[in-house]
Amino acid sequence: MKKKSTFKILLILIIFIALVSNIFLSLNNKKEYKEIPYKLFLEHIEKNLVQEVELKDKSQLKGKFKNGDLFITDNPRREDFKEYLLLNNVEVIEDNSLIPAQIITIMFLLMGIGLLAYFTNKNYSKQAEKEMALMSKIDMENSNKGKITFEDVAGNEEAKESLKELVDFIKNPEIYSKYGARMPRGVLLYGPPGTGKTLLAKSLAGEANVSFYPVSGSDFIQVYAGLGASRIRELFKKAKEDGKSVIFIDEIDALGKKRKGGNSHGGSEEGDRTLNALLTEMSGFKGNEGIIVMAATNRIDTLDEALLRPGRFDRQIEIGLPDVNARYSILKLHSMNKPISSEVDLRKLALETVYFSGAKLENLMNESAIIAARNKDKNINNEHINKAYYAILVGDEKKDRSSISLGDKKITAYHEAGHALITKKITKNNRVTKVSIIPSTKGMGGFSLNIPPDRMYQTKIDIENNIKIALGGRAAEEIIFGKDNITTGASSDLKKATEMTLALLGNYGMDDKIGLINYDIILNSNLNTDISLMERTRDILDNFYQDTKKVLVENKIYLEKIAKALLEKETLDEVEIDKILAS
Ligand code: ADP
Ligand code: ZN
Repeated sequence: MKKKSTFKILLILIIFIALVSNIFLSLNNKKEYKEIPYKLFLEHIEKNLVQEVELKDKSQLKGKFKNGDLFITDNPRREDFKEYLLLNNVEVIEDNSLIPAQIITIMFLLMGIGLLAYFTNKNYSKQAEKEMALMSKIDMENSNKGKITFEDVAGNEEAKESLKELVDFIKNPEIYSKYGARMPRGVLLYGPPGTGKTLLAKSLAGEANVSFYPVSGSDFIQVYAGLGASRIRELFKKAKEDGKSVIFIDEIDALGKKRKGGNSHGGSEEGDRTLNALLTEMSGFKGNEGIIVMAATNRIDTLDEALLRPGRFDRQIEIGLPDVNARYSILKLHSMNKPISSEVDLRKLALETVYFSGAKLENLMNESAIIAARNKDKNINNEHINKAYYAILVGDEKKDRSSISLGDKKITAYHEAGHALITKKITKNNRVTKVSIIPSTKGMGGFSLNIPPDRMYQTKIDIENNIKIALGGRAAEEIIFGKDNITTGASSDLKKATEMTLALLGNYGMDDKIGLINYDIILNSNLNTDISLMERTRDILDNFYQDTKKVLVENKIYLEKIAKALLEKETLDEVEIDKILAS
């Protein structure tokens, strides 16, 4: 604050001095000019009475008569009429030498303006610095062309597979153009932090050997305050000038949060403008320029739908936490450049690091290396790794490695096995493509079911089966661990099951007892709504639950087998599940 006012005072002082000195000096310099009409001026020239004329000022003419009198007159021609004057023997003064007063004034004013500019700029210099740092970071990444490849990403096989197609797109956009194929515009990677989303984006650029332009959504709001939209345009301009490239927007949720009602963006118009600029730039692509826009988020559920529409981030790839095999490859990868003792069993370590992200595994190996280096030991041994492991877990506010994971793991394994087994036993067309005990964004375990696609209608039996599939997790828990040990893990399953049952009764008229009435209509009219729908729903759900339990009990050996396989491998694919069921 103090600094500010000193500046201001100094500034005012300088301008004041400048003005005063100007007035003073020009007063000193002042000569008596007599104003004369232009016509008279011309007559004087004709009569050869004019000694000299200054041609400095276009709107006024000053001069001296031969008798020494000074005159001033209007200059209606407003143009050089030097020739005319010279032909009439008038001396022409053209030199623009400034008198000292003017020089001093201008100097002072320039100084003042300079200070003013410096003073105003001061507020922004911090931001400018940040931006410079960011921009130079971008440039630096560019010079790293081709350094990081898919080899640097362990696990994430499906994501890599999906990105491999894009490599060819970027390399040979002309070929795709020739076939009339449009290049995907945007790829959204979503999943928990530290799972290698940035790494994947960077490796795509590396594989395609093009420039990589990383930015972060939150920077657009914080660092580029007020300039977000223009920064987006600049970014795309830069990328386009560069030709083929990968633009990567981390934390895109910071820009494109769901707009709550209307178009307010949690109060941030800034975010909206930036988002719109992004969408405009993305639609502006002709499509086959070899530029891919990638974005990452931990929370796809909060994203503005506008971002997910066709022509925007229309390719979405989930990046989940690594399963045991992926963890093993990640650990191997991050041990490659380190002296690891032969006693260290990375497979075992992979088994012990459930729920660790790639970043955490990398951190584990790095911390171990630091501990070994600090001890000046020959290589990294189990003791170092254990220390690092606990340090990381403590940082995570989790206590014991065996108890946190093993108990949960077992429950999850049976729960997910229950879903998978019931699906296989009661339906013919539904495929279980994957079962996993690694949490996904969708729920505590992972269970993916392929419902036969492209059917316009669902039959009553389809809905009933889906309800039973949803109940399969809880049923398995009860069968294996007993009624008292069922867990909260089934809460979202129960929500789904209740929803489906209610729809079966109240919307689709599929229950004989309730009949064909639509429950919403009944609720909205002022009739007595006590039609015991609630009781009926409960009874039906209960029947479904008993059926489900019966099927699982009859197939308990398979339930055990699937759960055991899950505990060992964490993820089972379709072939593995079918193999177990065929045994
Ligand atoms: P995200 O963008 O998903 O938050 P990052 O890509 O920034 O995660 O990952 C951070 C670091 O963790 C990477 O630089 C890398 O060292 C390590 N890492 C994460 N996932 C993997 C993986 N699948 N393979 C190898 N290293 C990984
Ligand atoms: Zn479940």
